[in-house]
Amino acid sequence: MTDDTLANRLLLVRERIERACARAHRDPATVKLLAVTKIFGPEVIREAWAVGLREFGENYVQEMERKAPVVADLAGARFHLIGHLQSNKTKKASQLFAAIDSLDSVKLANRLDAEGVPLDITVEVKLSEEDAKTGAAAAELPAIVEAIRSSKHLKLRGLMTVPPWSEDPELSRPYFARLRELAAAHSIEELSMGMSNDMEVAIEEGATWVRVGTALFGSRRPLLGLTP
Ligand SMILES: *Cc1c(COP(=O)(O)O)cnc(C)c1O
Repeated sequence: MTDDTLANRLLLVRERIERACARAHRDPATVKLLAVTKIFGPEVIREAWAVGLREFGENYVQEMERKAPVVADLAGARFHLIGHLQSNKTKKASQLFAAIDSLDSVKLANRLDAEGVPLDITVEVKLSEEDAKTGAAAAELPAIVEAIRSSKHLKLRGLMTVPPWSEDPELSRPYFARLRELAAAHSIEELSMGMSNDMEVAIEEGATWVRVGTALFGSRRPLLGLTP
């Protein structure tokens, strides 16, 4: 019935967001869409910009470095780093991104602040026991929040979490609920949670950002060790 174009996939994602908001009695305008363009080339960012998307999530500093010159002319486009940041890459990250959504240590907060560039910051919290996941432990959050709030250039916006992957989005719900509690305890406004497979549950639990890749752009081809 509908063609499989980015414009149509975006419509479907917006409908999913609206239906979840209706169930949760929320205004859809309170849920922002972060378009996750990792692994895809800069032409995909241009295409996404052309259909109205303005906030983009990228996982790797080096990958963004390659894309940045090609997308520099896209007015109003803002890039968020959503992948783990190594402390030796804070200078480049502060030049390439408007927002760091994956900050997970006091050390990183101090290093980013020392770069002297205004940055929106979201703290990534690890709420599962999985070894492979990055993110700060909940117990480390008070010190990280304090470091950001007492910094010169960093603005604390939100918390982010990535639950263990599962086919069943309901299994993400307790992680999302926990993130909401942590944010409330620290008076933090934004909640970045929910991806292609579990955005509805995240919205029901209070997400103000959903980070969507696959549902917009299709599956990511494996590419030279950059597979997620
Ligand atoms: C890749 C990625 C996403 C997007 O995942 P999809 O399942 O493709 O929507 C969201 N958040 C983070 C942190 C990611 O690494």
